[in-house]
Amino acid sequence: MRKNNEKDAKNCKVCGRIFYHPHNDICPDCIIRDEQDFQKVRLFLKEFPGSKINVVEEYTGVSSKKILKYLREERLELAEKSEDFLKCLKCGKPITTGMYCSECYINFVKEINQMFSAPGNKEPTAKMHITKNKKR
Ligand SMILES: [Zn+2]
Ligand SMILES: [Zn+2]
Repeated sequence: MRKNNEKDAKNCKVCGRIFYHPHNDICPDCIIRDEQDFQKVRLFLKEFPGSKINVVEEYTGVSSKKILKYLREERLELAEKSEDFLKCLKCGKPITTGMYCSECYINFVKEINQMFSAPGNKEPTAKMHITKNKKR
């Protein structure tokens, strides 16, 4: 077993406790709690799809701040766009999940592609994407 490395010591972003990990910002306990909260929300929505955020908050005890985090992480999706809850971080348009609206995503990809397509570049430049999730 590797010993805890002093330089890996950090304060958990959620509970503030000191823990040791080279990459994570959140301690193992909070990761488990986060996953448990997510499952609560997921199960509630499975049973009552289309529930409003304040209702989910009330019944699951999971804060809307946390729900917003799940939406940003694309673990949840709003049933409809909402002006006051989830907005594109770049242009401010309402979105249902993630960080940015589809137009801003397309623009990001264009910008990145341009950045890497300097003349004389012999690297492979074929466009690609991940295979569609068949679950939905
Ligand atoms: Zn923690
Ligand atoms: Zn946008």
